[in-house]
Amino acid sequence: MSLRVQKYGGTSVADIERISNVADRVQKAHDAGDQVVVVLSAMAGVTDKLIALASQASGSPDKRELDVLLATGEQTTASLLAMMLKSRGYKAKSFLGYQAGIHTDHMSGKARILDIDSKRLKTALDEGHIVVMAGFQGYNDDGDITTLGRGGSDTSAVAIAASLKADVCEIFTDVDGVYTTDPRICADARKISTISYEEMLEMAILGAKVLQIRSVEFAKKYNVPVHVRSSFNEEEGTMVINESADMESAIVSGVTCDMNEARITLKRVPDQPGVSAKIFGPLAEAEIMVDMIIQNTRSEGETDLTFTVTKDDFERAKEISEVVAKEIGAGEIKTATEIAKVSVIGLGMKSHSGVAAIMFKALASENINIRLISTSEIRISCVILSKYAELAVRTLHSAFGLDKE
Ligand code: ADP
Ligand code: ASP
Ligand code: MG
Repeated sequence: MSLRVQKYGGTSVADIERISNVADRVQKAHDAGDQVVVVLSAMAGVTDKLIALASQASGSPDKRELDVLLATGEQTTASLLAMMLKSRGYKAKSFLGYQAGIHTDHMSGKARILDIDSKRLKTALDEGHIVVMAGFQGYNDDGDITTLGRGGSDTSAVAIAASLKADVCEIFTDVDGVYTTDPRICADARKISTISYEEMLEMAILGAKVLQIRSVEFAKKYNVPVHVRSSFNEEEGTMVINESADMESAIVSGVTCDMNEARITLKRVPDQPGVSAKIFGPLAEAEIMVDMIIQNTRSEGETDLTFTVTKDDFERAKEISEVVAKEIGAGEIKTATEIAKVSVIGLGMKSHSGVAAIMFKALASENINIRLISTSEIRISCVILSKYAELAVRTLHSAFGLDKE
């Protein structure tokens, strides 16, 4: 008997018929003698609708109340599946985040899981229940409901799998697995059969929304085997596992695109020690994550300083930058929101040179201008204008030979 955590995303529970398909799958695993914990997302589009409703109720919705509202999406699907399974004669029980012991910090809307007390779930499993857990939600020290950020049900699933020491965490979604790039952008994208935690983490960080970033961090930290697969067929999907000796180390295994960043440039920043700290200190205090940073010398004693933040943080980052620019005697501030970050990722880059050159040449061949560049051991990212994003993804995908044979 093995213990399986199965997470179903929004499209997989979009209506009663699809929830019924989920019930069939869960039933099958249970009938085969496995213990099953099901983690559900809200029905597709519901979280967006709830956010829109909140903004109709209030110009800037209270964060505590917004979490209470958003958590209802997952509460709906979890109860529906549990009652459906019960009416089919199965022992099943739904659990909200707090009932499942998902204890988080206080960051409303993007809470982090601190620890999990899975006693109640274990008891329910031991009693022979199919456990149905509402994803995306937890509770904080005050006993208030929190949510884990968009796409957070992935993290609920991997975290509960780690806590229960499950044999596998299956992420059922609307694509057949993790692809070499978003199959919706590039028709030639190929399904990857196995990928390391490290590469998957980079892909998630760099915009492949198929898994939430934190879910991959959890999987890596607790060594949870994650199987990303389709809820619409029986095909094997992609195994996300530890890097192993026999794993093919492609130089580039994936291409990603992130449209969620914005760029801020402070012109004519005095070139003196301590100036960068004066700019990035207040941003850090405001809990704004800065991604890329670039400094260009303009003339003797002056530089232009450019950085990127997520679009959510853009307005606040701009306001803070304007205040700081005055304080330090910098010039005007330039911004751009119509940008995209395209990246290539691969473990094989650790031991191969020339990847950057291929990337720059491929973008140049399509006349795509690169605005910013950043690199790590296993990835290279370029910021370009967003109107070229899809073209850039397809061009890089083929330049690195990732197309279907
Ligand atoms: P769910 O609702 O099941 O959580 P998501 O919409 O969050 O599903 O994630 C699945 C989507 O991720 C796919 O429909 C696909 O468009 C997108 N995606 C982006 N990059 C990739 C990739 N490299 N491989 C697979 N899917 C990707
Ligand atoms: N329903 C939430 C969202 O749309 C969480 C999830 O689906 O993982 O972001
Ligand atoms: Mg998702």
